[in-house]
Formats: sequence, structure tokens, C-alpha cells
Amino acid sequence: MTEEKNDAEVLVNGIEDVGAEIRDTDIVFDCPECGKNLVIDYRGAGLQINCSQCGASVLVPIPDGMELTDLDLDPGEILKQLFATRRNYQKVELKLQALKAKLVQLQETLGVMQEVVAEGIAES
Ligand SMILES: [Zn+2]
Repeated sequence: MTEEKNDAEVLVNGIEDVGAEIRDTDIVFDCPECGKNLVIDYRGAGLQINCSQCGASVLVPIPDGMELTDLDLDPGEILKQLFATRRNYQKVELKLQALKAKLVQLQETLGVMQEVVAEGIAES
């Protein structure tokens, strides 16, 4: 994976810029025509570029989790995000239940303490 990235050529808006650093936000993909490893800035997602090796017209893939308001997400991607959201929701729900149980415990403790204080006042 890392090696692939190392010999990848860097394309920014279709302009070759070999030697530029690959950032986390860059999209790394293979040319479907010649298999050449290509790199483009994330802003190139969904754009049509020309392969730096064979010159073929290549559609830059849109990375997972990327939000493009001007592009329609494919249904599989939306479903994936929905599942991720549900998983997070379940985690939050479990945490909430634990906190509710803790709250009940604290309220009981508080009740006992109030009784003790009331008894103390009555006795004095
Ligand atoms: Zn190519």
C-alpha cells in the first residue's frame, strides 16, 4: 500500500506534479485502462481527468465518507452511513441507560441522606 503510494504520480486538476507530497485528503486510485497508480487532490473527486501514462479519460472515484453536496451519493453509500449512524445511536443509548441507572442510585442515596438529616433535626 505504502509502496504503491510512493510511485504514484501526483495529479492536481489533471496537471502532473511528480514529487509532491501525498496528503491524507488525496485520493489514490488506479487507472482502469493501464493500471497506473494515480493521485489527485480530494477536490478532484468525481471529475474526469486524463491518465498521466496512457492519456485515457478517467473518472476520479469519490472516497468513502466524503460529502459532496453537488454529487448524488450512491444508495449503498447512504445505507453504509445509515448503519454507522445506527451503531453510534445504539452506543449512545447504552450509555444513556447506564447513566439513568446511576441517577436512580444517586437519587436513592440522596433520599437516605435526607432521611438521616431529617431524623437528626427531629432529635436535636
Ligand atoms: Zn492509464
